[in-house]
Amino acid sequence: MLEINSLTHTYGEGAGAHHAIDGLSLSVAEGELLCIVGPSGCGKSTLLRSIAGLITPTGGEIRVGGELVRQTPDNLAVVFQDYSRSLFPWMSVADNVALPLRRRDMDKKRRREAAQEALESVGLADAGRKYPFQLSGGMQQRVAIARALAYRPALMLMDEPFGSVDAQTREDLEDLVLKVRGHHTMTIVLITHDIDESVYVGDRVVVLSKAPAHVVGDLKVDLPAPRDQISTREHPDFVQLRAEVGRLVRGVAPVS
Ligand code: ADP
Repeated sequence: MLEINSLTHTYGEGAGAHHAIDGLSLSVAEGELLCIVGPSGCGKSTLLRSIAGLITPTGGEIRVGGELVRQTPDNLAVVFQDYSRSLFPWMSVADNVALPLRRRDMDKKRRREAAQEALESVGLADAGRKYPFQLSGGMQQRVAIARALAYRPALMLMDEPFGSVDAQTREDLEDLVLKVRGHHTMTIVLITHDIDESVYVGDRVVVLSKAPAHVVGDLKVDLPAPRDQISTREHPDFVQLRAEVGRLVRGVAPVS
Protein backbone atom coordinates (compact mmCIF):
# COMPACT_ATOMS: atom_id res chain seq x y z
CA MET A 1 0.00 0.00 0.00
CA LEU A 2 2.79 2.40 0.91
CA GLU A 3 6.37 2.20 -0.30
CA ILE A 4 9.02 4.73 0.72
CA ASN A 5 12.46 4.47 -0.84
CA SER A 6 15.54 6.41 0.28
CA LEU A 7 13.49 9.46 1.25
CA THR A 8 15.47 12.61 1.95
CA HIS A 9 14.23 16.07 2.80
CA THR A 10 16.22 19.22 3.46
CA TYR A 11 14.62 22.53 4.40
CA GLY A 12 16.49 25.58 3.10
CA GLU A 13 19.87 25.75 1.45
CA GLY A 14 23.53 26.40 2.18
CA ALA A 15 24.59 27.24 5.73
CA GLY A 16 20.96 27.53 6.90
CA ALA A 17 19.95 24.12 5.52
CA HIS A 18 18.21 21.71 7.88
CA HIS A 19 18.32 18.00 7.06
CA ALA A 20 14.99 16.66 8.34
CA ILE A 21 15.00 13.20 6.72
CA ASP A 22 17.95 11.21 5.43
CA GLY A 23 17.66 7.93 3.51
CA LEU A 24 14.42 6.70 5.04
CA SER A 25 12.97 3.50 3.56
CA LEU A 26 9.82 1.81 4.73
CA SER A 27 6.93 -0.22 3.40
CA VAL A 28 3.45 -0.73 4.82
CA ALA A 29 1.17 -3.60 3.83
CA GLU A 30 -2.50 -3.17 3.01
CA GLY A 31 -4.65 -3.28 6.15
CA GLU A 32 -1.73 -2.71 8.49
CA LEU A 33 -1.83 -0.19 11.37
CA LEU A 34 1.67 1.17 11.57
CA CYS A 35 2.77 3.53 14.32
CA ILE A 36 5.78 5.72 13.67
CA VAL A 37 7.45 6.98 16.80
CA GLY A 38 10.48 9.18 17.24
CA PRO A 39 11.87 12.02 19.32
CA SER A 40 10.30 15.47 19.02
CA GLY A 41 11.59 17.41 16.04
CA CYS A 42 13.06 14.32 14.35
CA GLY A 43 11.09 14.76 11.13
CA LYS A 44 7.86 12.78 11.70
CA SER A 45 5.52 15.47 10.40
CA THR A 46 7.83 16.11 7.46
CA LEU A 47 7.54 12.42 6.61
CA LEU A 48 3.76 12.48 6.89
CA ARG A 49 3.44 15.64 4.83
CA SER A 50 5.61 14.03 2.16
CA ILE A 51 3.39 10.93 2.05
CA ALA A 52 0.33 13.17 1.80
CA GLY A 53 1.88 15.06 -1.13
CA LEU A 54 1.76 18.32 0.85
CA ILE A 55 5.50 18.89 0.40
CA THR A 56 7.84 17.65 -2.31
CA PRO A 57 10.75 15.80 -0.72
CA THR A 58 14.19 16.73 -1.96
CA GLY A 59 15.12 13.10 -2.68
CA GLY A 60 13.85 9.53 -2.91
CA GLU A 61 10.37 8.38 -3.81
CA ILE A 62 7.04 7.51 -2.23
CA ARG A 63 4.39 5.27 -3.78
CA VAL A 64 0.83 4.86 -2.53
CA GLY A 65 -0.95 1.87 -4.06
CA GLY A 66 1.91 1.65 -6.58
CA GLU A 67 1.45 5.25 -7.79
CA LEU A 68 4.25 7.75 -7.38
CA VAL A 69 3.11 10.56 -5.04
CA ARG A 70 3.29 13.91 -6.88
CA GLN A 71 0.27 15.55 -5.29
CA THR A 72 -2.20 14.44 -2.60
CA PRO A 73 -3.31 10.92 -3.54
CA ASP A 74 -7.03 10.59 -4.16
CA ASN A 75 -7.53 7.64 -1.83
CA LEU A 76 -5.91 9.24 1.20
CA ALA A 77 -7.22 11.08 4.27
CA VAL A 78 -5.26 12.89 6.97
CA VAL A 79 -6.19 13.52 10.61
CA PHE A 80 -4.10 16.31 12.13
CA GLN A 81 -3.38 17.00 15.78
CA ASP A 82 -5.02 20.39 15.83
CA TYR A 83 -8.74 19.72 15.40
CA SER A 84 -9.58 23.36 16.11
CA ARG A 85 -7.86 24.31 12.88
CA SER A 86 -8.94 21.34 10.80
CA LEU A 87 -12.72 21.76 11.25
CA PHE A 88 -14.55 24.68 9.67
CA PRO A 89 -16.21 26.62 12.52
CA TRP A 90 -18.99 28.03 10.34
CA MET A 91 -20.14 24.60 9.15
CA SER A 92 -22.26 22.15 11.11
CA VAL A 93 -20.60 18.93 12.21
CA ALA A 94 -22.47 16.97 9.50
CA ASP A 95 -21.38 19.43 6.80
CA ASN A 96 -17.78 19.23 7.98
CA VAL A 97 -17.86 15.44 7.70
CA ALA A 98 -19.61 15.47 4.31
CA LEU A 99 -17.35 18.14 2.76
CA PRO A 100 -14.60 15.93 1.27
CA LEU A 101 -17.27 13.65 -0.22
CA ARG A 102 -17.86 16.33 -2.87
CA ARG A 103 -14.76 14.87 -4.49
CA ARG A 104 -16.53 11.53 -4.69
CA ASP A 105 -19.20 10.76 -7.24
CA MET A 106 -22.07 10.96 -4.72
CA ASP A 107 -25.30 12.98 -4.69
CA LYS A 108 -26.18 15.21 -1.74
CA LYS A 109 -28.47 12.65 -0.08
CA ARG A 110 -25.84 9.93 -0.24
CA ARG A 111 -23.20 12.34 1.12
CA ARG A 112 -25.46 13.13 4.09
CA GLU A 113 -26.08 9.44 4.76
CA ALA A 114 -22.37 8.63 4.60
CA ALA A 115 -21.61 11.51 7.02
CA GLN A 116 -24.26 10.28 9.45
CA GLU A 117 -22.93 6.70 9.28
CA ALA A 118 -19.41 7.93 10.01
CA LEU A 119 -20.64 10.05 12.93
CA GLU A 120 -22.44 7.00 14.34
CA SER A 121 -19.28 4.92 14.09
CA VAL A 122 -17.41 7.43 16.27
CA GLY A 123 -20.24 7.65 18.81
CA LEU A 124 -21.58 11.05 17.69
CA ALA A 125 -24.88 10.05 16.10
CA ASP A 126 -26.69 13.08 17.58
CA ALA A 127 -24.06 15.74 16.93
CA GLY A 128 -24.61 16.38 13.20
CA ARG A 129 -26.55 19.63 13.61
CA LYS A 130 -24.18 21.09 16.16
CA TYR A 131 -21.23 23.35 15.40
CA PRO A 132 -17.67 22.39 16.36
CA PHE A 133 -17.47 25.04 19.12
CA GLN A 134 -20.39 23.33 20.88
CA LEU A 135 -18.35 20.14 21.32
CA SER A 136 -15.46 19.24 23.65
CA GLY A 137 -11.95 18.85 22.24
CA GLY A 138 -12.20 15.06 22.24
CA MET A 139 -15.54 15.22 20.42
CA GLN A 140 -14.12 17.59 17.83
CA GLN A 141 -11.29 15.16 17.16
CA ARG A 142 -13.91 12.40 16.77
CA VAL A 143 -15.54 14.59 14.12
CA ALA A 144 -12.19 14.90 12.32
CA ILE A 145 -11.84 11.10 12.46
CA ALA A 146 -15.42 10.67 11.20
CA ARG A 147 -14.64 12.99 8.29
CA ALA A 148 -11.66 10.81 7.35
CA LEU A 149 -13.72 7.61 7.72
CA ALA A 150 -16.65 8.90 5.65
CA TYR A 151 -14.24 9.41 2.78
CA ARG A 152 -13.39 5.68 2.92
CA PRO A 153 -9.72 6.22 2.22
CA ALA A 154 -7.47 3.30 1.37
CA LEU A 155 -4.78 5.00 3.47
CA MET A 156 -5.41 7.10 6.58
CA LEU A 157 -2.57 9.20 7.96
CA MET A 158 -2.80 10.45 11.53
CA ASP A 159 -0.33 13.07 12.77
CA GLU A 160 -0.18 13.08 16.59
CA PRO A 161 -3.98 12.80 16.50
CA PHE A 162 -4.42 12.65 20.27
CA GLY A 163 -1.75 15.16 21.23
CA SER A 164 -4.19 17.94 22.15
CA VAL A 165 -6.61 16.10 24.43
CA ASP A 166 -6.53 15.04 28.08
CA ALA A 167 -5.25 11.60 29.14
CA GLN A 168 -8.67 9.95 29.57
CA THR A 169 -9.93 11.23 26.21
CA ARG A 170 -6.70 10.12 24.64
CA GLU A 171 -7.30 6.54 25.79
CA ASP A 172 -10.88 6.68 24.50
CA LEU A 173 -9.67 7.89 21.10
CA GLU A 174 -6.97 5.20 20.94
CA ASP A 175 -9.70 2.61 21.51
CA LEU A 176 -11.86 4.30 18.90
CA VAL A 177 -9.11 3.88 16.30
CA LEU A 178 -8.79 0.20 17.20
CA LYS A 179 -12.56 -0.18 16.89
CA VAL A 180 -13.02 1.58 13.57
CA ARG A 181 -10.15 -0.20 11.90
CA GLY A 182 -12.01 -3.44 12.71
CA HIS A 183 -15.01 -2.18 10.72
CA HIS A 184 -13.28 -0.56 7.74
CA THR A 185 -10.61 -2.05 5.53
CA MET A 186 -7.99 0.59 5.67
CA THR A 187 -4.26 1.00 6.05
CA ILE A 188 -3.40 3.40 8.87
CA VAL A 189 -0.13 5.20 9.54
CA LEU A 190 -0.21 6.94 12.91
CA ILE A 191 2.55 9.25 13.99
CA THR A 192 3.16 9.81 17.67
CA HIS A 193 5.92 10.71 20.10
CA ASP A 194 4.19 8.61 22.78
CA ILE A 195 5.97 5.28 23.13
CA ASP A 196 3.19 3.52 25.08
CA GLU A 197 0.60 4.68 22.58
CA SER A 198 2.61 3.36 19.63
CA VAL A 199 2.74 -0.13 21.16
CA TYR A 200 -0.88 -0.08 22.38
CA VAL A 201 -2.35 0.94 19.02
CA GLY A 202 0.07 -0.49 16.44
CA ASP A 203 0.36 -3.82 14.64
CA ARG A 204 3.90 -2.68 14.07
CA VAL A 205 6.05 0.14 15.40
CA VAL A 206 8.74 1.86 13.36
CA VAL A 207 11.18 3.96 15.36
CA LEU A 208 12.90 6.96 13.82
CA SER A 209 16.27 8.37 14.82
CA LYS A 210 16.92 11.95 15.90
CA ALA A 211 17.08 14.40 12.95
CA PRO A 212 17.82 13.71 10.20
CA ALA A 213 15.27 10.92 10.52
CA HIS A 214 15.91 7.38 9.36
CA VAL A 215 14.55 4.05 10.58
CA VAL A 216 16.37 2.65 13.63
CA GLY A 217 13.84 -0.02 14.63
CA ASP A 218 10.96 -1.97 13.16
CA LEU A 219 9.03 -4.12 15.63
CA LYS A 220 6.00 -6.33 15.18
CA VAL A 221 3.44 -5.97 17.97
CA ASP A 222 1.80 -9.30 18.60
CA LEU A 223 -0.49 -8.65 21.57
CA PRO A 224 -3.63 -10.61 22.39
CA ALA A 225 -6.83 -9.22 20.85
CA PRO A 226 -8.96 -7.42 21.73
CA ARG A 227 -6.64 -4.90 23.33
CA ASP A 228 -7.82 -2.99 26.33
CA GLN A 229 -6.33 -0.16 28.32
CA ILE A 230 -5.80 -2.14 31.53
CA SER A 231 -4.88 -5.73 30.68
CA THR A 232 -2.96 -4.98 27.47
CA ARG A 233 -0.77 -2.43 29.23
CA GLU A 234 -0.04 -4.97 31.99
CA HIS A 235 0.82 -7.76 29.56
CA PRO A 236 4.52 -8.82 29.80
CA ASP A 237 4.93 -8.51 26.00
CA PHE A 238 3.61 -4.93 26.15
CA VAL A 239 6.01 -4.07 28.96
CA GLN A 240 8.93 -5.59 27.07
CA LEU A 241 8.05 -3.92 23.76
CA ARG A 242 7.63 -0.47 25.26
CA ALA A 243 11.03 -0.81 26.93
CA GLU A 244 12.56 -1.82 23.61
CA VAL A 245 10.91 1.06 21.74
CA GLY A 246 11.97 3.41 24.55
CA ARG A 247 15.61 2.35 24.22
CA LEU A 248 15.49 2.78 20.45
CA VAL A 249 13.90 6.26 20.72
CA ARG A 250 16.55 7.33 23.21
CA GLY A 251 19.33 5.75 21.17
CA VAL A 252 20.34 3.41 24.00
CA ALA A 253 21.85 0.02 23.07
CA PRO A 254 19.68 -2.98 24.11
CA VAL A 255 20.62 -4.79 27.32
CA SER A 256 22.18 -8.13 26.33
P1 ADP B 1 8.47 16.20 14.30
O1 ADP B 1 7.13 16.05 13.65
O2 ADP B 1 9.19 14.90 14.47
O3 ADP B 1 8.41 16.97 15.60
P2 ADP B 1 9.03 17.94 12.03
O4 ADP B 1 8.94 17.10 10.82
O5 ADP B 1 7.89 18.85 12.34
O6 ADP B 1 9.40 17.04 13.30
O7 ADP B 1 10.34 18.87 11.92
C1 ADP B 1 11.63 18.31 11.73
C2 ADP B 1 12.65 19.42 11.72
O8 ADP B 1 12.47 20.21 10.55
C3 ADP B 1 12.52 20.36 12.91
O9 ADP B 1 13.83 20.70 13.34
C4 ADP B 1 11.82 21.59 12.35
O10 ADP B 1 12.22 22.76 13.00
C5 ADP B 1 12.27 21.58 10.90
N1 ADP B 1 11.21 22.11 10.01
C6 ADP B 1 9.94 21.69 9.92
N2 ADP B 1 9.25 22.38 9.01
C7 ADP B 1 10.12 23.30 8.51
C8 ADP B 1 10.03 24.34 7.52
N3 ADP B 1 8.89 24.55 6.84
N4 ADP B 1 11.13 25.07 7.29
C9 ADP B 1 12.29 24.85 7.95
N5 ADP B 1 12.47 23.89 8.88
C10 ADP B 1 11.38 23.12 9.17
